[in-house]
Amino acid sequence: MAASAGLCAVCELADEIRSARGSVFWRCREHDADPTWPKYPRLPVLACDRHRPRPAER
Ligand code: SF4
Repeated sequence: MAASAGLCAVCELADEIRSARGSVFWRCREHDADPTWPKYPRLPVLACDRHRPRPAER
């Protein structure tokens, strides 16, 4: 599941959201700082210039 999210799955700015029906979305908190940035990026994200690797991924 996480692998299909691409970079979001290993990004400090991503929150995994699970709907009541079991669908999984990745919400990008960069949207809170910049509303022009997508709140729910189209997955998989393969390249992102705002990506911030989680500490374990650095
Ligand atoms: S900054 Fe990029 S990689 Fe990180 S959660 Fe947002 S869209 Fe995904």
